[in-house]
Amino acid sequence: MSDRYSQLVRLPVAGTVAKRIGLPQPVTLERGPGPVRGRVLLGGAGRFAEAAARVLADMGVDAATALDDPVREHAAAAGLDAAVFNPEAPADRTFKALVFDATGISSSAELVELQRFFHPTIRRVEPSGRVVVIGDGRRALEGFTRSLAKEVGRGATVNLMQVTPGASIDSTLRFLLSPRSAYVSGQVVRVGAGRAVALSGRTALVTGASRGIGAAIAEVLERDGATVVRLDLRDAELELDITAPDAPEVLAERFAGGLDILVHNAGVTKDRTLAKMPEERWQSLLEVNLLAPERITSALLPLLRDDGRIVCVSSLSAIAGNAGQTNYATSKAGLLDLVADLETERGITINAVAPGFIETQMTAAMPIGVREAGRRMNSLRQGGLPVDVAETVAWLASSGLERNVVRVCGQSLLGC
Ligand code: NAD
Repeated sequence: MSDRYSQLVRLPVAGTVAKRIGLPQPVTLERGPGPVRGRVLLGGAGRFAEAAARVLADMGVDAATALDDPVREHAAAAGLDAAVFNPEAPADRTFKALVFDATGISSSAELVELQRFFHPTIRRVEPSGRVVVIGDGRRALEGFTRSLAKEVGRGATVNLMQVTPGASIDSTLRFLLSPRSAYVSGQVVRVGAGRAVALSGRTALVTGASRGIGAAIAEVLERDGATVVRLDLRDAELELDITAPDAPEVLAERFAGGLDILVHNAGVTKDRTLAKMPEERWQSLLEVNLLAPERITSALLPLLRDDGRIVCVSSLSAIAGNAGQTNYATSKAGLLDLVADLETERGITINAVAPGFIETQMTAAMPIGVREAGRRMNSLRQGGLPVDVAETVAWLASSGLERNVVRVCGQSLLGC
């Protein structure tokens, strides 16, 4: 789907005019697999500094450490080139990413460490750069990161990991630093003790996979080594209506030998204000978006192998609400109940993504005014792409995270 406004303001003259009159100036976001591409500055001196330094060293990135000694020691222990960052250094010393371990902050008075680290460095973040704060549950960090995400600009993102003691930060830090998280910003990810698993050799079922977001999810899972069964009404290897009364049975038979990853992506909209919403319109949507996923989850849960993964594709409407979408928002928020309540064991996890405005056939069909508002009313000033949701699903399908709802919305101004 083409975003003509974004193409136009990237031209030199139109870009200058847009800047002068204060119009949004979306930059082209860097996307694609692989680790962070560039120099990373690591700061803060909490209990994850060493682990963060190790992750950076493993990724082979060129990393520097901020002035304080404990971080420098951790970085040296991880084999990093512990160049000392000098806030007075010329402004051409820029960074692709800033990582700040805030778990060393033990009182409100020490929150000033955030100002001390980011004040001299935030303007040195490169376009499509990354800022990751590592915390241990302190709410003050959430206000800080969400606000910084709204300030940083130029396609850069800011996210917070709230990590419980003993948890591994590896998979989440890698994702949040990489170009794979291009449209994830202003998010708080809760990292628990679950264990990450590789996608290679795993079998995945993706519903609604013949086009749009579902097709992208299938492609990214395959790229990362999973064997994917695409399910859809038509044009798919497994042609099935998920609302069919025998769908759970058919799927249980198909995956009798086991399944590793279940992605509930199939979904429909049937917008109308509640006053004009007949029961049939309400119920037929609830069937596709919520009741069928619930039934299929019950049927497939016993067949999920150890460390199995369930990922639900919810929606920002579930969180923010949307006029004309009482049925849709109810169904998509109902998926969040499933994420919160499903009883799992054997290392099986369940999480959700909540996409905001994503460029698909679904959003191309919107009236132009609504479409433009959706595209611009977020910190990145543009719509996301199906691949942005797909990368986030792939990360949730491999990480050990549990019961997170990650918005893929460029920090939409709706439902903050
Ligand atoms: P889409 O309409 O392009 O694709 C949905 C797919 O689901 C289609 O291929 C369709 O055939 C399939 N499907 C519908 N009903 C089915 C059924 N009963 N059985 C089997 N398959 C069925 O939509 P999309 O934009 O790719 O959205 C994918 C998911 O993401 C949906 O759940 C949607 O609600 C959600 N979402 C999309 C956006 C967005 O901006 N596009 C935003 C938030 C959430």
